[in-house]
Amino acid sequence: MIEILTPTELLRAQDSGALVANILHTLKGRCTVGTNLLDINQWTKEMILEAGAQSCYVDYAPSFGRGPFGHYICTGVNDAVLHGKPHDYTLADGDLLTLDLAASLRGIAADSAISFIVGDSKPAESVAMIEATERALRAGIAAARPGARIGDLSYAIGSVLSDAGYPINVEFGGHGIGSTMHQDPHVPNMGRPGRGYKLRPGLLLALEPWVMADTAQLVTDTDGWTLRSVTGCRTAHSEHTIAITADGAEILTLPTLGG
Ligand code: MG
Ligand code: MG
Repeated sequence: MIEILTPTELLRAQDSGALVANILHTLKGRCTVGTNLLDINQWTKEMILEAGAQSCYVDYAPSFGRGPFGHYICTGVNDAVLHGKPHDYTLADGDLLTLDLAASLRGIAADSAISFIVGDSKPAESVAMIEATERALRAGIAAARPGARIGDLSYAIGSVLSDAGYPINVEFGGHGIGSTMHQDPHVPNMGRPGRGYKLRPGLLLALEPWVMADTAQLVTDTDGWTLRSVTGCRTAHSEHTIAITADGAEILTLPTLGG
């Protein structure tokens, strides 16, 4: 089912998006050498509960994961790119950290992910990979408007990623979002222009380009959730929730906090 939100629901989606973005912004400011992934999970839990919001993750039990996720945020370090389950790991200088968060406020969910490097060292390959996913995300958003098709967005995203030299996995990508976190339509990170569902005002999409340095193949960690690059190479992921408007698209998951 594809949901089209009412104007009232869209106002709530703005609040959900700001909440998710502000939590990620705050976490990014706190994550440093010595931070444990379990601390990040605890901070996220506190901020979600304080806002009166609901986690989309704690009870999430899809076919591709082992049982309920049980945590409030996905934390992926280096080769862990999707569904990273927080565990007892202390961040080190130069680690490439991905935080992926979805939460629901007054019945509307928002979903966003950021990748960044912890500490002072900035490995050039990691910087380039993060920037490629951010560029691809901007390209996908720029292609989003009423009348455009999902394939137009997929093509825009995939062109940036493949021009940057990254293999693309089409198993996991973007998605519709609204009263629940994952909905139709699927938005693959590569595709053909002019194909697929035609966008309409009121549609919410989560666009999420992600890459692995030298492979498109994932392997599931023994925790039953975390998806890692099969070669152990580094990975990056950028995600925004957007709303299709009358003449384009609005990014809902931009932080409203300063600093
Ligand atoms: Mg996400
Ligand atoms: Mg998502």
